[in-house]
Amino acid sequence: MAGMAGWHFEHTYAGLPELFYSAAMPATVREPRLVAFNRPLAIALGLEPERLAQEGAAIFGGNVLPEGSRPIAQAYAGHQFGHFTALGDGRAILLGEQVTPAGDRLDIQLKGSGRTRFSRRGDGRAALGPMLREYIISEALHALGIPTTRSLAVVATGEPVQRETMLPGAVLTRVAASHIRVGTMEWAAAHGGESATRALADYTLQRHYPELAGSPEPYLDLFNAILDRQASLLARWQLVGFIHGVMNTDNMALSGETIDYGPCAFMDAYDPATVFSSIDAGGRYAYGNQPPIAHWNLTRLAEAMLPLFDPDVARATARATAALERFPDLFEGYWLNGMRAKLGLLTVEPGDRALANDLFVWMHRRSADFTNTFCELTAGRVPSDVDDGVEGGPGVQAWYDRWLARRGRQPQTLAETGAVMQQHNPRFIPRNHNVEAALLAATSLGDLSVMEKLLDVLAKPYDHARDLPMFSLPGAGDQAYRTFCGT
Ligand code: AMP
Ligand code: MG
Repeated sequence: MAGMAGWHFEHTYAGLPELFYSAAMPATVREPRLVAFNRPLAIALGLEPERLAQEGAAIFGGNVLPEGSRPIAQAYAGHQFGHFTALGDGRAILLGEQVTPAGDRLDIQLKGSGRTRFSRRGDGRAALGPMLREYIISEALHALGIPTTRSLAVVATGEPVQRETMLPGAVLTRVAASHIRVGTMEWAAAHGGESATRALADYTLQRHYPELAGSPEPYLDLFNAILDRQASLLARWQLVGFIHGVMNTDNMALSGETIDYGPCAFMDAYDPATVFSSIDAGGRYAYGNQPPIAHWNLTRLAEAMLPLFDPDVARATARATAALERFPDLFEGYWLNGMRAKLGLLTVEPGDRALANDLFVWMHRRSADFTNTFCELTAGRVPSDVDDGVEGGPGVQAWYDRWLARRGRQPQTLAETGAVMQQHNPRFIPRNHNVEAALLAATSLGDLSVMEKLLDVLAKPYDHARDLPMFSLPGAGDQAYRTFCGT
């Protein structure tokens, strides 16, 4: 047990029926070395960063259990690329729930810390590159203001892991509002029946939606609230060009946080068909498919929760269907509000959707960079495209004039609406070439400075005063960029 670094663990999840988890112990690793450590997050958690700078390698590598931890692996199922499977934490171990000085309850989880009851044929380990990738991109989403799990630390284990080649091993310490997934409810329905789904729904309600306690229809309200948070989350992803890459139901959190960063990446040139993941040949999780896939996943959640909505199957189905039908409009509402902010529109006009659509038609046709198109508009410039680098191009000048006229039909000045645009259009996203350069330096040269510089830039994504073309321009090879799960 480690000393007093500020750990304050509770274990409410272990109060659920035993089918939801299994005791697990992190594996001991040979030569743990702290390669990334999130000081501001440690402080927010009530931990002492100075102490952890020393003890962190042993703790976040899994060699020493922090005081008060009670490690478990969580059980869950999931639809993976449409097919139902029993899963569970095969390479992750929950140490406990840290209660922060602000009174928040946050899961502290080690990812890559060895085999558990749910490992199946896997080794329970993780490679350094993918763990640093999760660290970089999850912290970038957080800085963008998008709900997400966080990354507290990455420890290199000093042990190799066997993938297609031998890779350096690592453990990521993940911090989450919880790790309850759509797949956890599916697990409950499949293995515990109605009493288990009720227990999990009660727990989720209490932990994430306490305002619904005491409602006359708590489970339907819970489902609607989850649906609402997902609609909002998906809108946030779409508005910055984030592609999750593997939206299986086990990778969708009921808290509404982005979770399980695998083959995710940000889109450069605007194209709804963009896919980066090497295992997503059919494009199921393409950029433009993300909202309907979220809807599909929520339908699986509704099926698992069905008996809680009404004892009569026909009535329960009717209510679930009515709730699910709200999703497209909810998403559209969040998206259009966000798009108005990106375009500096502070009033509502019926033609706003068409105005946005016409911009996207041009962006698609000209392969315009998603992020930088909005940055140019923010800076008051006519957007350029990548094809010939010539400012404007066919059609965009007319669109630009129309947009300026629209901006003129509201009481706010251009300066006022420009300030709103700056807060909603990131100057810096984790560009694929920057992420790759950071990972390459860290994994093959042991040079962490490239990643640290990138993390510094990504921590202030809306800082339009910073002129760093190295970080704001797409890379030459990014159109053919491929990502891997790294499992
Ligand atoms: P993911 O693709 O990371 O969401 O993982 C899907 C499922 O596979 C989860 O149940 C993981 O715990 C499990 N898994 C992934 N990689 C490994 C591994 N190396 N060893 C054991 N289980 C794994
Ligand atoms: Mg997963």
